[in-house]
Amino acid sequence: MEGTLAIGKAWILHRGNEAGQWSGRTLDEAFGHETGRLKAFIKDSPAPEVFSAHLEILEDPLLLDTIQSKIDEGMTPSEAVKAAADEISGMFGEIDDEYFKARVDDLKDVCGSLVQYLEGASSNPFENLPQDAVVVARELFPSDMAKMDLGKVRALVTSKGSPTSHVGIIARSRLIPFVTGIDISGIRTGDILLVDAGNSEVKVNPTDTQIEAFKSRLAEGNDIPEKMRRIIRKYGVKIFGNAGSVKDIEEAVRSGAEGIGLFRTEFLFPADGGLPSEEEQYQVYKKAVEACQGRPLTIRTMDIGGDKPVSCLNMPKEDNPFLGMRGIRLSLSMPDIFKEQIRAILRASAHGKVRMMIPMVTRVEELKRTKALVEECEASLRFSGIPFDNDMETGVMIETPAAAIVSDLLAKESDFFSVGTNDLTQYVMAADRGNSSVSYLCDPLDESVKRAVKIVVEAAKKEGIPVGVCGEAASDPEAAEVLCGLGIDSLSLGSPAMINALKQLQS
Ligand code: PEP
Ligand code: MG
Repeated sequence: MEGTLAIGKAWILHRGNEAGQWSGRTLDEAFGHETGRLKAFIKDSPAPEVFSAHLEILEDPLLLDTIQSKIDEGMTPSEAVKAAADEISGMFGEIDDEYFKARVDDLKDVCGSLVQYLEGASSNPFENLPQDAVVVARELFPSDMAKMDLGKVRALVTSKGSPTSHVGIIARSRLIPFVTGIDISGIRTGDILLVDAGNSEVKVNPTDTQIEAFKSRLAEGNDIPEKMRRIIRKYGVKIFGNAGSVKDIEEAVRSGAEGIGLFRTEFLFPADGGLPSEEEQYQVYKKAVEACQGRPLTIRTMDIGGDKPVSCLNMPKEDNPFLGMRGIRLSLSMPDIFKEQIRAILRASAHGKVRMMIPMVTRVEELKRTKALVEECEASLRFSGIPFDNDMETGVMIETPAAAIVSDLLAKESDFFSVGTNDLTQYVMAADRGNSSVSYLCDPLDESVKRAVKIVVEAAKKEGIPVGVCGEAASDPEAAEVLCGLGIDSLSLGSPAMINALKQLQS
């Protein structure tokens, strides 16, 4: 896949002080410092849920109590944090569950920041980051993204990590090229780097000829906004935004999105929290519609399961969660909870143009059952005199091979389609989208995925319903060009920065 290009000087990340000694800062100071920093960053973060999870860890008495008990045993605060992190992650690590595995990563990240603060004279290793830097590190964590002045960063290069990680999501949302799987041992601070994120290539200290060739690629419009602008002009597709919070919607609208093509509602169902009530959901959806200021808002019903379990639902452990109770399958298995969400969505539809979108559909029957629940909810709202849009549209996310194959049947029952290329690619190719060893197979431009999309577009056109793309491929110029060529009529982009750049280039 073609991606963004960047040229800049390498800046190697060094964490903490070399000796790893406690600097004399207290635990209280470290917790206060980290809490303040996270709270400040959450406000502007494109992935607030990541940093909220970090805050929850800092506020969890288990961490503080474990650290304190180590200090009582005679350790310094920084030694105690390291020992506590090892002990708790050991405990969590023994539980064979995706949720706990993710918590271990969060815990290590948070404790790493605490240790850096407790050990380092400089609490922020990115303090002296120069302008136009290509940050080079063995691995980057979400907390690093909160510490960097992203305005100074040209690109990120790491040996470990995955482009679909939280670091990847944040980088993409700021249009910062991010390349993983690179041997960084030969790179020194100050080296000139040519970064080609699309091809996962980094050229160290290139020749003048190579630099010139690279610069001309940049000038030819190989950078994403330029290429996307050409595609939008050529095909006249609509540009929507993806959002995971009301704040994201505000940002997408400010950036010029013509609507929201995917509003992920999972953030309302925190992995370790209680279920939101109908009223709580309604209040959020209402704010979301209002933030759209007359533009359409596509609310996706909860896509829980897979890698996003929710503890209060007591979901049984599954050997293959991505092939298990996920998305609409889970929603239909708990109709009372699902109806609360549908009622909240319907009530929000009284305040603006709302479309309801169903994730992980495999059979027409799932769509029919969902529509029957919508009718039930409409009847009860009508009975209670609660307003809603009688013509609210219900659409399907096409993200399983089954849905693509029977898209002609689904199209007869749907008001719109949105192709979720992230999952469609992973399921068509039988390649886990988060597993870097099979990432070469996770290509939305693979012939098989293109054929699946072609089938879907033809089915949609035959029934006269719109068909968009809301997966990451929508933001990739090479993939977007192919998708638009296949007849897709809207692209829902994951990045407000991208929408903004397009808007500026168009005007
Ligand atoms: C997709 O699968 O392409 C998609 C947009 O959904 P998510 O990434 O939330 O699974
Ligand atoms: Mg999906």
